[in-house]
Amino acid sequence: MTTNPRPNRAQQQTLRAFLKAQSKPASLWLKLSIALGTFNAILMIAGAYLLAQAIHNVMFEGSSLSEVTHLLWPLAGIVLLRAIFLALSERLSAFAALKIKSTMRQTLLTKLSLLGPSYIEQHGQGATLNTLHNGVEELHDYYAKYLPGVAYSAFIPLAILVVIFPTDYKAGLIFLLTAPLIPFFMILVGSKAEALNQKRWQQLAVLGNYFFDRVQGLTQLKLFNATQTELKQIAKISDDFRHTTLGVLKIAFLSSFALEFLATISVALVAVIIGFRLFFGTLDFSTGFVVLLLAPEFYLPLRQLGSHYHARLQGISAAADMVTILNAPLPNQDTELVNNTTEYTTSDTIDSINIKNLTYIYPDSNEGIHNVTLSLPKKGLIAVVGNSGSGKSTLFDCLLGFHPQVIPCIYINGLPLAANDITQLQNQVGWIPQNPTLFFDSIGANIKLAKPDASQQELEQAAQQAGALEFINTLPSGFDTLIGEQGEGLSGGQKQRIALARAFLKNAPILILDEPTAHLDSQTEQHIQHAINMYAKNNLVLVIAHRLNTVKHADNIIVMDQGKITEQGSFEKLSTQHGVFYNLLNAAKQGGSDE
Ligand code: ATP
Ligand code: MG
Repeated sequence: MTTNPRPNRAQQQTLRAFLKAQSKPASLWLKLSIALGTFNAILMIAGAYLLAQAIHNVMFEGSSLSEVTHLLWPLAGIVLLRAIFLALSERLSAFAALKIKSTMRQTLLTKLSLLGPSYIEQHGQGATLNTLHNGVEELHDYYAKYLPGVAYSAFIPLAILVVIFPTDYKAGLIFLLTAPLIPFFMILVGSKAEALNQKRWQQLAVLGNYFFDRVQGLTQLKLFNATQTELKQIAKISDDFRHTTLGVLKIAFLSSFALEFLATISVALVAVIIGFRLFFGTLDFSTGFVVLLLAPEFYLPLRQLGSHYHARLQGISAAADMVTILNAPLPNQDTELVNNTTEYTTSDTIDSINIKNLTYIYPDSNEGIHNVTLSLPKKGLIAVVGNSGSGKSTLFDCLLGFHPQVIPCIYINGLPLAANDITQLQNQVGWIPQNPTLFFDSIGANIKLAKPDASQQELEQAAQQAGALEFINTLPSGFDTLIGEQGEGLSGGQKQRIALARAFLKNAPILILDEPTAHLDSQTEQHIQHAINMYAKNNLVLVIAHRLNTVKHADNIIVMDQGKITEQGSFEKLSTQHGVFYNLLNAAKQGGSDE
């Protein structure tokens, strides 16, 4: 897993620009919310004038209640309107943030699906999940609170200054001179908080990866009695995270305290000066009272901005990870292939697949596959065999487009495949990986994943073909039986058969199977073997096989060793040739399990 180092000033600017650009889909709602909030402040100023006038009339002019009702009714109206506007404005900004977040998640998911599983594996599944979930969530306050806060802290004090200056310019001057202190102090504190926030975010990514891993392997940890050590390790990482979080909070609290203090001192200063001027009779009561009422309101948006500054820091820290994902290059997008008009495109039927000089080495490692050149026909059973670690799964991952940088080495119908068109190839492939994924849903829904509109009859036929119908029918709820995450509640062989049924249901012209008969008893294995052989009569079936039973019926056998294709041919040809296959066959015979 990689974490981002702390962004420098230029990167920060890019991040801010990125966050701003993301607000586009909801900018109308945000602007509407800000307009309502600002209008609310104008109502508040009008309210202050009405209130001050009413009190002045009653206390100094001896007016009765009926003489000030013309001031009190509008005041009541203003109070009610303000409540409505405030609620509306907050709802609108929350709605805008929601819209931005869902668009952001969509964009990230689209990009991640283009980058393929190898990117996620490389960057850590936990960390990627963390960015998608927590990261995007951290943007909420940035859009719903911080951005409107910035606008309010510009508009509202300005509106107050505009009305205060003509009324009493001395009070206006005090406001004007004390106001900049708050943002100044905020920025001073902010830079320290920023560094801490970045550190916290990185720790969260580490924690995410660590947790994800350990929760997945909980049974193993328990069996190997490693829970205690792991718990200690998790406790240590959590504790580091807690320390950093508390560090961030400490700064946040301290800065809010300092900002409150500054605002309070400023209001007190205004109050004392107004008091003296009233005492010496150089100011009339209603003006003084208006200034006093408006003084806290003047500093309020600035103080709030101080507390929302935290949301800004969190938003920027989280955005760094998103930018990393969104900026990750899609390999070969800008090579000459983009301009190549003779790529395989759209829904042409696939007549042949060729792989030319494909080399894929795992990042930060020397392992992978080297210089693989291979021709695959339109139909037939092709078996790939080789020792464990020889690169069979890697070859299939490349063919499935999971390592986007090697996609241009794949030629369909003689034309190179563009990275953008890999989904078209994927749509024509039914795939069962070494550990098929089943989801927390019913068995029926898991199979139907391949073809959501499949009829019950098709469903049963696919299950029958995969040798799964019998055991599904013995379950009390049949196809409606719920299975847990990762197929919990099913045996390894049952999971594999459900995954097979899914692939059969898709009825794709190409079927790729990574050890389909591992975990199966010999009777079920034979049944499935037969189904696969039948399927291969009209489609291309690529199968990785450890058991040599599969291999006997194959039209072509591809033998891999140390990341290279060393031999190819029929079972008869390879078993007489003294090569890798011959050795594999002998080893199997000696093991006695496969022959
Ligand atoms: P098996 O029969 O055990 O499934 P395989 O032939 O499918 O083996 P691969 O999984 O393709 O083997 O692995 C080929 C080589 O690449 C191995 O040496 C393995 O260590 C290495 N490898 C596999 N996955 C990764 C990874 N994510 N990062 C680094 N190296 C990897
Ligand atoms: Mg494998």
